[in-house]
Formats: sequence, C-alpha cells, structure tokens
Amino acid sequence: MRRDTLSRRSVLTLTSGFALASAGVASVVGNSAQNDEGTVSRESIVIREGTEEETTAYVTTADAEGPTAVVVGGMHGNEVAGYTAAGRIAEWTIDAGTLVAIPEANAAAIDRGTRNDAEGNNLNRQFPESETPDTELARAIWDVVSEYDPDVIVDLHESTGIYAGDPMDGVGQAIFHSAGEAATDAAADAADYVTQTAVDDPEFAFEIGPFSEPETDPSGLLAHKTARDLNADGFLAETLSTDVELETRVQWHTAIVERLLEGELLLDESDTGSASDDPTGEEPSESEPDEEPADDESGDDTDDSDGEEAASNESPVARIDLLPTWRSESALEPGETVTLDASNSDDPDGELVRYEWCIGDHGSFDETGETVEVTVSADGDHPVALRVVDDDGSTDIDRLTLSTNC
Ligand SMILES: [Zn+2]
Repeated sequence: MRRDTLSRRSVLTLTSGFALASAGVASVVGNSAQNDEGTVSRESIVIREGTEEETTAYVTTADAEGPTAVVVGGMHGNEVAGYTAAGRIAEWTIDAGTLVAIPEANAAAIDRGTRNDAEGNNLNRQFPESETPDTELARAIWDVVSEYDPDVIVDLHESTGIYAGDPMDGVGQAIFHSAGEAATDAAADAADYVTQTAVDDPEFAFEIGPFSEPETDPSGLLAHKTARDLNADGFLAETLSTDVELETRVQWHTAIVERLLEGELLLDESDTGSASDDPTGEEPSESEPDEEPADDESGDDTDDSDGEEAASNESPVARIDLLPTWRSESALEPGETVTLDASNSDDPDGELVRYEWCIGDHGSFDETGETVEVTVSADGDHPVALRVVDDDGSTDIDRLTLSTNC
C-alpha cells in the first residue's frame, strides 16, 4: 500500500510561509465550493453539522500534484496553542499537493476549555487501530482523514511537563513520530529547526520520541491510527503549556509543521528505508512498555501524554569526555583549546545516528560530530551540552561546564 506513484520531491512547499489568509477560506457548507486564488483552491467540509461538536475541515489543494498532509489541532480542548496554530495553518498557501487542516477537532471541549468533552471522553483515545472509531465525532473525523488518505499527519498538542526521555515526567517540547528512519529523521530535523529558530532557553529545546507500540497504552490515538492503518508518516507535537507565552507556543507549533511538510522526510523518502516500507508500522519490541504516564496537565482526567514512547526502545546514554584526558574541565586556561569526545556515548539496543552539540548557553544544538574542538576564550564558566540520537529516535543529553582556574 505504499504510494510509489507519488513524488515526494514536489511536496507542500510553502510559498511564503504564512502568507494569505483571511480572504481565503470559504465558510462553505458541504464540500464542493471553491475559492480559487490562482495557485490553490479551497473548500470546507463540515463535520458533525448541527451538533455541538460541529467543526470544519479546511482543504487546500495546489494546482501541482503532490502528497497529502493532514494537520489536526484541538483534539484536547484546553491545548490552546495547538488549535490556534492549526487554525493559522488552515490558511496557508501551498505549492503542491493537498493540505487538510482540522483546527478544532473537539469543538465542544474547546468551548468548555477542558481536555475532554462533557461526557469525559478523551477524543484522542477513540481511534483504535484496524477498527471503527468509538464515537460519532471520531468516526466523522476518521471519514475525512481516511478519505484523503494522507502521506503525513501532524497532530498538535500541549503538556504541562517537559519530555526528557521519560514520558512519566511529561511530554512537552517534543515531537513524537511513527516508526521508520524517514519519520525519525524528519522529527529530529524539525526538532532541531524549531529549537534553533524559535527557542531561547536551552531548557526548552525540542526532543523527539517514538510512538508507543501498537496494542500498548496509550492507544486509540488518531496519529497512530493514521500512521498504521493508512501507512502515513505520523507526528504528534507537544509544546509546554505552562510558563510560556501563547504566541511563542503557537510559533513553535507552526515552525514544526512548516518544517515537517517541507522537510527531509518528504524529500528523502525515496532514498531511505522509510516508514512506508514497513507494512505493519511496528518497531522491534524487546520489553514491556511503561505504564501509562502520569497526568501532566491540569485537565479533567488522568489520561494524558499522547504519543509518548513505550519502553521497547532502550534510551541511549550521552557521555562527554574531555581530551586530552589529563586536562580538568574545571581548570582550563583562557585561550586553551580542548576536544570534547562523545565516542563513549552508547545505545544499548542499537546505534547512535547523531551527535549534536550546544557550545555555550545560546541554546542551539548547532554543531554535529562525534568530537568537537572548543576554545575557552574567556575566564569563567562555559556550559556545553551533547545530545545523542539513536536509531529509534530516542535522545539523551549530557552536560559539562568548562571553567578557567581563576
Ligand atoms: Zn493533548
């Protein structure tokens, strides 16, 4: 069911990013009206019309053929940045392919400002794989998603905790992804991109993690079902909802989606062993998954953490060593050059595919390589961080502070 006929090289190139806009989207009932803007046509699909769950899917189609992407927000009604960003993305102009945006998937929960609907249903648990979705709203959304049969889906969420390799501690500032090298690489690329372009504080650097395994909790996620049932590349982005301005979080989501839709995944699809090559969408499993992560939202139930990883993949271990080994990291001379060596980092069940360095406190992992040379230019403390990425997309960070002995 791999769509070999599609050229992913001509994908969803965003013309001017955020151009266009309000004039664009027709408030049309039904699925036939178009608002032609020359390069794209737009139509709207009303979901659950006439009910309190009524919401709209916005479909933008470029003249040029290309893949199809679905972007979803508002699966949880209190995750404001996700549905705000998705609403803006619905107005994007694209150069090729088709963009389907469902900004307010759970409109009733958004109206309430709560994670779930009035009955306590968590919409993002109503999409069991290989089965009909559990609720009318979920079935209506799935009708749209499956009709468009996307090559890629991105679902936008928020969390009150930061993901640091263990979903029990939170899933914010992370991009979770479906199995396969292409999706893993695309997620890592998007995480780097948003971190470098839109994150000031290294604490908020974006990480990546694999989707939980099929048949393990949490299950019933739309992005998982789309990846596995429709053979799409799936992504679930989580921003930190606390202590960060809404507009900043919206920009993070927007940058992630922009990068994913024009990024390496799509460009390199034909050259890499991709998720699409694996008809099961499964990853190797070596152990039982973690229990369901703790609720990290101030929401109205305890069922949280979309897309977090199961424990089937053992996390890598980052390790920075200083060379020459007889030097002390805390007793350097100003002007001295040392080598930071990551070769003793390890992945217990695979191999490391990337070594990324943040030299100084600017917050970007903008150098790569197993070793880097650093010159201590001035007196004082100079923090460095190493992030390693393994072949399952899991990451670990080691930190070191280079200090002069004054
Ligand atoms: Zn959520």
